[in-house]
Amino acid sequence: MTDLAIASAAVVGFASGPALRAAIVANLRPRRDPARGRCPCCSAPCLRWRPLVTAIPTALWGRCPACRRRIGAPPAVIELVNAGLLALLALRVHPLFVLAALGWAAAAGIILVAIDASTRRLPDAVLAPTLVVVLVLLVVAGIVDHRSSELVGALTGGAATFAGYSLLALVTAGLGFGDCKLAALLGLVLGWFGWEALAAGVTLGFLLAACYLLARMVIGRFSPSEQIPLAPFMLVGAFTVLLVVAGRRRLVGHRQLPLDLPSTGSRSLGFGCQNVRWMPWRSSC
Ligand SMILES: [Zn+2]
Repeated sequence: MTDLAIASAAVVGFASGPALRAAIVANLRPRRDPARGRCPCCSAPCLRWRPLVTAIPTALWGRCPACRRRIGAPPAVIELVNAGLLALLALRVHPLFVLAALGWAAAAGIILVAIDASTRRLPDAVLAPTLVVVLVLLVVAGIVDHRSSELVGALTGGAATFAGYSLLALVTAGLGFGDCKLAALLGLVLGWFGWEALAAGVTLGFLLAACYLLARMVIGRFSPSEQIPLAPFMLVGAFTVLLVVAGRRRLVGHRQLPLDLPSTGSRSLGFGCQNVRWMPWRSSC
């Protein structure tokens, strides 16, 4: 991607931050609660999407206009995280429709992390449209860019991850059906980059969750009945692997890259000479 495309991704990420913030607060309430979109403190309807003129300034400011209590994350945090994530994806991911799919999944991931950390649930209102949009974008990428094998990998990856998590949810109490649906989403995007990426992303998510539990045991704050939010670890594990693997596949896929290194090397996050095993046509640095 060009510098302009990366900057554009960052701008889109920052500009969509208020929508993410509003989606987080609107879903912090229990399911089917009629008060969704209202301030959790005073129930003012400040985050209902009608009128937008009320919801957007509230989301930007991060405080309820009625009681002035904080709603959600501090100002600019969600916006900056989303902008940084989209810029990193634009730096590493190719082609455009795959980038759009991963960008959508990343933005939804920010919403899901915030909701899961607060309420221990992953709402269908976020997961269902995200699954549909990511699936459609990957299908379009598979057709337009002639990536049928990657598309098959994404579909089988999503199905396999969903099946694996569903089996785990049947035998363990710590997994919910929301985690299984999130696993299907992550299996879709990881599966596009191959089975190794899928296995690495899922494993890293479990390892991060295990480290978190271990840390809580060490500091004496672990309770066997405690239910930890799994979505943050699943998403961090998956996107860490995606950012690494997407760049490597891009290098392998563009055999002309060594000639382009002077112009793109500064943006390849270290995938230069030390990664010659990914560029077999180069004998040495
Ligand atoms: Zn309020």
